[in-house]
Amino acid sequence: MEECISVFDMLKIGVGPSSSHTLGPWRAAERFLNELRTDFEINTVTRVKVDLYGSLSLTGKGHATDLAVMLGLSGQDPEYIPIQNIDKIIKSIEAKSEIHLGNQVSIPFFILQDIVFNKDFLPFHANGLTFTAYFNNETEYSSTFYSIGGGFVVKEERENAQNKVAIKCAFPFPINKASELLAYCAKENKSVSEIVYDNEKSMRPETEIHHELLRIWNTMLECMYIGCHSEGILPGGLHVRRRAFDMHQNLIGLCNYSTPQEWLEEIRKTEVKFRQILKWVSCFALAVNEVNAALGRVVTAPTNGSSGVIPAVLMYYMVIENHQAGENEIKKFLMVTGEIGSIFKKGSTISAAMGGCQAEIGVSSAMAAAALCELLGGTPAQVLMAAEIAMEHHLGLTCDPIGGLVQIPCIERNTMGAIKAINAAELALATDANNAKVSLDKVIDTMWQTAKDMNSKYKETSEGGLAVAVNMADC
Ligand code: SF4
Repeated sequence: MEECISVFDMLKIGVGPSSSHTLGPWRAAERFLNELRTDFEINTVTRVKVDLYGSLSLTGKGHATDLAVMLGLSGQDPEYIPIQNIDKIIKSIEAKSEIHLGNQVSIPFFILQDIVFNKDFLPFHANGLTFTAYFNNETEYSSTFYSIGGGFVVKEERENAQNKVAIKCAFPFPINKASELLAYCAKENKSVSEIVYDNEKSMRPETEIHHELLRIWNTMLECMYIGCHSEGILPGGLHVRRRAFDMHQNLIGLCNYSTPQEWLEEIRKTEVKFRQILKWVSCFALAVNEVNAALGRVVTAPTNGSSGVIPAVLMYYMVIENHQAGENEIKKFLMVTGEIGSIFKKGSTISAAMGGCQAEIGVSSAMAAAALCELLGGTPAQVLMAAEIAMEHHLGLTCDPIGGLVQIPCIERNTMGAIKAINAAELALATDANNAKVSLDKVIDTMWQTAKDMNSKYKETSEGGLAVAVNMADC
């Protein structure tokens, strides 16, 4: 049965630094609150405890999982919470040893005792977390969730229930595989973005699609703007210096603008030479991931760790390739990225805890490559080939963040994913895609096999690679 995954499931507005370790657990806490509200009286809760398992435990500190569950339990929404409130809420919980559960009732909460980092893994998925509520009548209620990547959260019984009711996908063009997407494009004589748009229209009004896609773009643009104008050292103890600021200053010099939109227009006026193209693209990608590492607002695309690739490639199109590009191109670009990401999610994984960094940077690069290829005039076959090429050259990429922080190698890695995406789009445009030797579906299968073969040391556990080669204390 096809799963209906919307563009808006793949591109979510949230808070850094991680979609699986921050956004997912935050959403899980919100769902637990909803369960308490639906099935119990929330004001009869006297205490809440959170158990983190597997990768959420091993890299949860560096990925701010503990902060995310506290903010979720406090009834805050990651999409709308003012960033400046995050620190205040956490400091208040620490200082008072008290949490305002669901923004409704204050109960004692001792961070060190009530958030437990269990080293063991739950069998269903590497990112498990269990919430337990204790009530004033001496009873308790526990609920376990799994953060399966990209901010998606599931409960085990939903996946495994024997009598689960199959939910039929209501899309006019249900798609599980790239070959199905290509067949729809051929049959309907439509581009990839047109097929995606028809699917989206079956779920929500066109005005809403328009508004939400532009809201996503504006969040990306603002994120790049903030990153290019923020100096200093990133939090977490690695002492990583923000580089987008200096790079941006060197590229643009003194200019006059005061909003992200004016900034974009200013860059478009700048004459850019080849070496500067690489620097600009890298600067945009660094900017987003520095904001992400500083717990700022980003768009999960398809994850937070890889959130810089897609904005950087879309900016490349707007400031280098097409100065006239506007809302239509932005919407098309985002719709193609969403569809390609959903095909990867269905056929493989977008969770680094399941597949290493190929599932994050590799997938984001494939999403961006496909979207750029369509905007540059590629046929649907070339669009899918661009995604295939981008992933082919990320296969086997491991996840080994130093100190469990989404900083090294993550921030730079976004620049690599963006540059590879541009190259993949160009290669596909220069190729007869109808005679491709490797299809996108084949590379997705290969990615999944590689994910299953990959040692768990390289799946967001910080137990291998750079994470053990580099000593935090030396940084
Ligand atoms: S190494 Fe890659 S997958 Fe791992 S946290 Fe960093 S960006 Fe994400």
